[in-house]
Amino acid sequence: MSELRWGPVDQQWVIFAPERAGLFLTTTPDVRVAEDPASCPLCPHNVEAAAKTIYRHPHDGEWQTRVVANRYPALHIEGDLQPTGVGLYDKMNGVGAHEVVIETRDHARPLAALSVAEISAVLATCRARLVDLRRDLRLRYVTIFKNHGSDAGALLTHSHTQIIATPFIPTLPRAELTHARDHFVHKERCLFCDVLHQEEIHSKRVVRDDDAYITFCRFASPNPFEVWIMPRRHQHDFALLTDGDLTLFATALKDALLRLNAVLDDPPYNFALKTAPSPNPRPGRPNDWATIELDYHWHLEIIPRLTRPAGFEWATGIAINPTTPETAADYLRRA
Ligand SMILES: [Zn+2]
Ligand SMILES: [Zn+2]
Repeated sequence: MSELRWGPVDQQWVIFAPERAGLFLTTTPDVRVAEDPASCPLCPHNVEAAAKTIYRHPHDGEWQTRVVANRYPALHIEGDLQPTGVGLYDKMNGVGAHEVVIETRDHARPLAALSVAEISAVLATCRARLVDLRRDLRLRYVTIFKNHGSDAGALLTHSHTQIIATPFIPTLPRAELTHARDHFVHKERCLFCDVLHQEEIHSKRVVRDDDAYITFCRFASPNPFEVWIMPRRHQHDFALLTDGDLTLFATALKDALLRLNAVLDDPPYNFALKTAPSPNPRPGRPNDWATIELDYHWHLEIIPRLTRPAGFEWATGIAINPTTPETAADYLRRA
């Protein structure tokens, strides 16, 4: 069973997950990357027998996308949180969800190689899981993210996205949500809509723009070739997307991944979907995120893993980025 601990010095939660002890970089290389379809736990012939299915699309017949429980879960859905104070510290049971979205039946096709319709199905699967996990009142935030390539943390080559739902809002999303709320308090405008307008004025960082989505490299990107995709229309929550919206978003996502592949030769990458926290009201805190529909704006952040954070970055949180977003956007636009 995992345990969550909160420390007062850095004021953040840490997940202690003993089941993942076998995943140290220095040990058990056999679990690091399953290259062979015969032993791949996400290939249809293995997954149907082995893994607990949480969701499948379509519901009947041959599945196209499938959601299974992670083999090495960081958090478990069973149990009570039992939050406890331990002197200065806080802890609770490692309750949450850790799911794997299998994006395709085909072992060898990465997300960028899927059709727009197939990527839309992956996104619709994520939307369905987001909506369902929010029904669990213990869970406050759902993180949808992807690791592609072993240098980005992927343990399997078979293309997949992961979902971790936590009983708290993690530090970085909380900071972003708070900055957006503060901006709204002072200016009565959405911070992200303001960013969007700024990027349109200075189009040097815009990679692609259509009626629905803007793809750009943000002004102070900590990471080289970091790309954001944002809906042009103000919308706080990914769960609100219609199927039509998903098709347009899938088009922008595929375009961004193909551009990164062309410029950087299939780089390892991570992406993370940033969206509103669970809308369930909390006892005693009726005003939590009361203006979220006005002040937050969901978006996707894609980070090719081109540099490795070292001592200075770890010590200070300051990134050293060798590529300006204007240069990165110029390469990506011409790809
Ligand atoms: Zn496979
Ligand atoms: Zn907005």
